[in-house]
Amino acid sequence: MNRGITTTILHADRQSAVEHGATHKPVHVSAAYRYGDVNDLIGVFQGTMSGFSYARQGTPTTAALENKINLLEGGRGTIAFATGMAALTALFTTLLQQGDHIISSQYIFGNTNSLLMTLQRLGCDVSMVDATDVRNVAAAVRPNTRIVFVETIANPGVQVADLAAIGELCAQNGLLYVVDNTISTPYLFRPRDVGAGLVVNSLTKYIGGHGNALGGAITDTGCFDWSRYPNIYDIYRKGDPATWGLTQLRKKGLRDLGASLSSDAAHRIAVGAETLALRMERACGNAAALAQWLAEQPEVARVNYPGLPGNPGHERATQLFAARRAGERAPRYGALLSFELVSELDCLAFMNALKVVILSTHLGDTRTLALPAAHTIYHEMGPEKRAQMGIADNLIRVSVGIEETEDLIDDFAQALQYAAAR
Ligand SMILES: *Cc1c(COP(=O)(O)O)cnc(C)c1O
Repeated sequence: MNRGITTTILHADRQSAVEHGATHKPVHVSAAYRYGDVNDLIGVFQGTMSGFSYARQGTPTTAALENKINLLEGGRGTIAFATGMAALTALFTTLLQQGDHIISSQYIFGNTNSLLMTLQRLGCDVSMVDATDVRNVAAAVRPNTRIVFVETIANPGVQVADLAAIGELCAQNGLLYVVDNTISTPYLFRPRDVGAGLVVNSLTKYIGGHGNALGGAITDTGCFDWSRYPNIYDIYRKGDPATWGLTQLRKKGLRDLGASLSSDAAHRIAVGAETLALRMERACGNAAALAQWLAEQPEVARVNYPGLPGNPGHERATQLFAARRAGERAPRYGALLSFELVSELDCLAFMNALKVVILSTHLGDTRTLALPAAHTIYHEMGPEKRAQMGIADNLIRVSVGIEETEDLIDDFAQALQYAAAR
């Protein structure tokens, strides 16, 4: 991709001869697709011809979105799913089997953690390691290890994984490296640049960006040699090995599991994605300003944000999330931060005093959202696991939106004053 990501996204549909010269790909609602010649229908089923058969396996609208995500990630192919969790479930259940071992970062999305526990019950071994240091990943590698899974910037502690070194380790050991890029987005970072074979994005978050549609995607970057992967079924070991992984994911993961993205959601996500770069610039700028301001307040005990020079992930983030094209933009550190108030202050009373900021789960919205992490998204896993993941009881997670910076700081300031005066 030689053009910038916004130009690319805005003009992606046009490149594929959109019906009647429409500038948006239309929302196709047909469940079934007809063919005048039965040989064409057969060709589509057998994969010798491209086309659509039944909407569970995709529609022209979801395919147009897949193309855009693929351009963003610089992939060789992308599959869209109904949600980010559907993409992750499809990935793990399709590519792993009983007795396989997976190494995962211990700093991951709560529901992904829960999914890995399900895989364990189904007979996979799971090692959770501190992936901010490649040595912990290397120490966990076993003969039956198949997948190494990490998130770029973790939620809510914002730890930055040792992304480049883990990529090298996976390449040396022939392991499939899977990176969840949801929090950084392809605007900040492309996992293919560190050798990831598969990239997962929750499209519900920054890519869709407006909190009005659910979606997920898996992108094959082309970095992984599928002919070395033992779990490809014989029926998919045909033709170019570069296609094997995604073919199996589309058949076993999308078609059979059935968590398909609707055309309607695909359209909304595609419209949202047009402004990904603009929204990320603004939200990341807001997050940096807010993190800086919070760090200066005596009522705040600790701020987690990779953009702060004191953060353990700061240097790595600066290196990884710097502009791909020189001069394109300043280094950005994401729009997610978390912080703890000093122990004398009641974090719940503080949150109740917020007026602009919305008390809500979800992240990557245009609106700023806050929630008490230990009481909500990390409640189910219990105190021991929370301690392992570094989630303090009074930790407040903030997904920073695109409001005017001063309005956000004013809101946090008045809520801090309120909590301190109680
Ligand atoms: C939200 C999220 C997911 C799951 O995505 P959904 O679209 O909500 O299913 C996966 N990974 C990360 C890092 C997320 O933040």
